[in-house]
Amino acid sequence: MFEEKDFVEWLKTKGLSQSSISKYKNSIAQISTFLIHKKMIDDLLDKNIQKIQKKSLNKFNLYQLKNTQTLRKATDMYFDNEENMIKDQRGHRQWTAAINNLIQFYDMNMSSEKMSKAYPNSYDFEEFEKSVDELVALYTHGVPSGNKKPKSKIVKTVSYERDPKVVAWILKIAKGICEACDKKAPFIKDADDQEYLEVHHVKRLADGGKDIINNAVALCPNCHKEAHFGKNKEFLRKKLIKIAASHLSSKD
Ligand SMILES: [Zn+2]
Ligand SMILES: [Zn+2]
Repeated sequence: MFEEKDFVEWLKTKGLSQSSISKYKNSIAQISTFLIHKKMIDDLLDKNIQKIQKKSLNKFNLYQLKNTQTLRKATDMYFDNEENMIKDQRGHRQWTAAINNLIQFYDMNMSSEKMSKAYPNSYDFEEFEKSVDELVALYTHGVPSGNKKPKSKIVKTVSYERDPKVVAWILKIAKGICEACDKKAPFIKDADDQEYLEVHHVKRLADGGKDIINNAVALCPNCHKEAHFGKNKEFLRKKLIKIAASHLSSKD
C-alpha cells in the first residue's frame, strides 16, 4: 500500500523531469478515476481495504493495490476500453508509460515491504545505526530540536534481496534458541506466535557474503547487536562462522 507521494518521490530519484512526473501522476489519477466509474474496484481490492474504503470514503487509487499482479489486472481493465487505447496511442503512450513506471515502482518497493512484514526480524538496519553512531561521535552540545512532523521518504539505498526460504530455514532449525548464547528467544511475535529471533549474515551481503544457510545464523536481538557493534565482535564472528558452516550437516 503506497501513496501518490511515494510514487512521485521515487520518480524523482529516477531523475525524471518535473513535467514527466506530473504527466505520470495525472495518468495514474485518470486511470484510477476511470476504474471507479466503471465500478471495477471491488474486484481488485483486498477485503480489508474495501471495508476501510467504505468507512472513510477515501477515494480509490491505484496505489492502494496490494501487488503487481492486481496492478496488471487493473491495467488490462483500463485498456480493454477502446477509447482508452486510442487516447493512449495519440498521447504518445503516456498512460502505458505511467503504468510501467508504477509497476516498476511496485516491483522495487513491494518486495522489501512484503519481506519485512513476513519476517520483521530479517533486516539489518546498519545504515541507520551508523548515522546515529556518527552523530554521537560528532555531538557536542545543545538539545536537538527533533522534528515535530517527520516526513516520510523513500531513501535510495543499496539493498539486498534476501531469499525468504533461507531466513525461514534458519529460523526453523534454531527452534527459538539463539545460536550464539543458546538462550531462548526473548519474546513471542504477535504476527505469528513464533519466537522472535533475527537472522544475521556472518559475512555481510554488502561485503560479498552469500545469502545461503552456511552464511546465516539465528540470533537473539542482544547477540545480533553484539555481532554488529560489540567490542567482542571479532571473536563472536569466528564462533558464528563455525555455527553457520555446521548448518549443512544438520540438514535433514
Ligand atoms: Zn543470543
Ligand atoms: Zn546482522
